Amino acid sequence: MPQNYSVLIIEDEKNILDFMAKALKANDYKVYTASSGQAGLAVITSHCPDVILLDLGLPDLDGNKIISSVREWTSCPIIVVSARTGEQDKVHALDLGADDYITKPFGTPELLARIRASLRHSNRMDSGSPLYIRPYQSGNLTLDFERRRLTLNGKEIHLTPVEYKIVAFLARNSGKVMTYSAIMSNIWGPYTDNNNRILRVNMANIRRKLEANPSQPEYIFTEVGVGYRMKEDERELC
Ligand code: CA
Repeated sequence: MPQNYSVLIIEDEKNILDFMAKALKANDYKVYTASSGQAGLAVITSHCPDVILLDLGLPDLDGNKIISSVREWTSCPIIVVSARTGEQDKVHALDLGADDYITKPFGTPELLARIRASLRHSNRMDSGSPLYIRPYQSGNLTLDFERRRLTLNGKEIHLTPVEYKIVAFLARNSGKVMTYSAIMSNIWGPYTDNNNRILRVNMANIRRKLEANPSQPEYIFTEVGVGYRMKEDERELC
């Protein structure tokens, strides 16, 4: 990694905080920690971390309040780290402006993958050039955004225009969960109704085209009740 990214961990459970801090330091991240919401907000203001890992159940503040307050002034990626497994909790945090979530318990590779995906996404937003986007590449799947060409094992896969838009949106956000409503409004516009049937029908067709076994996908995963997550891009983070 060409630079040391900084990560702030806001978590009141000491063993989880220590586990994450150790794993991140071992992977060359600069780590800040806070064990309460107020302390976390103070670090965000003073140090502007590159990524925030946020526990929702904090002693002094609801983590969702932190998301809303941070989103008033910065787009810094926020990854919710939560014991709450309810789909509605996840969707709510994402709707408030969280970038992704990770559910306890989790392992180091999953934590690192979520952080990389969020950093990649925020770097791309900062690069300021929507015209030049490097191809997505993962496993045997490649998507060239400029040529609008999706290839699997070197063979082109023909997608309908809507299918292409869905795959391109997920690939641009690869590694991160995208909610049904975020995908729907990106593809069909903000006034689309919130019935996601049309999305599920298109996804079934997409999977038939690009997954060897559509019921056990390798590239586009279902996050039950929340949305879809495309396999992380394998390119180096820069
Ligand atoms: Ca907690």
